Amino acid sequence: MSDLPPLDLSADVLTLTRALVDVPSVSGDEKPLADLVEAALRALGGLEVERIGDAVLARTNLGRPTRVVLAGHLDTVPIADNVPSRIEGDRLYGCGTSDMKSGDAVMLRLAGRFGVPGAEPARDLTFVFYDNEEVEAVKNGLGRVARERRGWLYGDLAIVLEPTDGEVEAGCQGTLRARLSAAGHRAHSARSWLGQNAIHGLAGPLATLAAYRAREVEIDGCTYREGLNAVGISGGVAGNVIPDEAALLVNFRYAPDRDEDAAEAHVREVFAQAVADGATLEFVDNAGGALPGLAEPAAAAFVAAVGRPARAKFGWTDVARFAAFGIPAINYGPGDPRLAHTREEHVAIDRLQPAEDALVAYLSGSSA
Ligand SMILES: [Zn+2]
Repeated sequence: MSDLPPLDLSADVLTLTRALVDVPSVSGDEKPLADLVEAALRALGGLEVERIGDAVLARTNLGRPTRVVLAGHLDTVPIADNVPSRIEGDRLYGCGTSDMKSGDAVMLRLAGRFGVPGAEPARDLTFVFYDNEEVEAVKNGLGRVARERRGWLYGDLAIVLEPTDGEVEAGCQGTLRARLSAAGHRAHSARSWLGQNAIHGLAGPLATLAAYRAREVEIDGCTYREGLNAVGISGGVAGNVIPDEAALLVNFRYAPDRDEDAAEAHVREVFAQAVADGATLEFVDNAGGALPGLAEPAAAAFVAAVGRPARAKFGWTDVARFAAFGIPAINYGPGDPRLAHTREEHVAIDRLQPAEDALVAYLSGSSA
């Protein structure tokens, strides 16, 4: 066991955020922090607690009609001379303040309130603290929980407390990458008529991309803007050779009304002419998005508790892991996503308490 002081879940959310930031937990080294979180949750006495690697799971079992899952990763990107935390004016600085130990602190405050014997939340609660979010997807602790203990993720609504600047960001977009390779024949550039230039073969696909009109889709009142873009280009052999290979790397960010297959089908359609002309289209990776699910009563009640309309989430987040099980999932956290992973990472102190208060109101309330 470590000799770190235990976490005090009765401390205010700012103090608790600082306590979490001051225990370094760069991806892969979450154990000391996970130990503290596990011990604090077990000490409450009203939660079923399970540990899987450095993921800590805890839940109430009160037989309530609805269950809300709250999820937060414990790891951070590498520290950049920004631990321990420090307060400057109305900001708390430090690695993980925004992404996402302030969100974890809110979760722990809720556990401290609703996870004790005799507490009467209106909804059952599941807390998922997990490891390795900031590294390769195969290591992701939430993915491991989904594979090994998926029952722990089930609920009527999942709230991921990643930084959203205190707004409800619903669902998330999917992301697909594809490589489009143009074929050619190598030749000496002094006799270029003997070859076929693969780089020139990309002119058509590039024109297609430049002219592409991306969709805007409204789902449950949130507008998702798609994008199909070249994000890489490669080709060329030498300064005197007609190249026989050239390829575009394309990224398609798609609205969650398309699933993974529909997204691939769309990209095939966009490049149908190029493929007919001899190009090869390969899919590199594809992660489906998540529908906002705001029509679900449990989600609508949460948006009402926050008091501001939800907006679309751009970018892929772990909410998609819940959506894969058909669970509506939203992003809601006090951190500022623009500051995540920066040396100047901080959180506005006045964002912390309102995030806790909105969740307390929602979880105490009697609405469905
Ligand atoms: Zn994060």
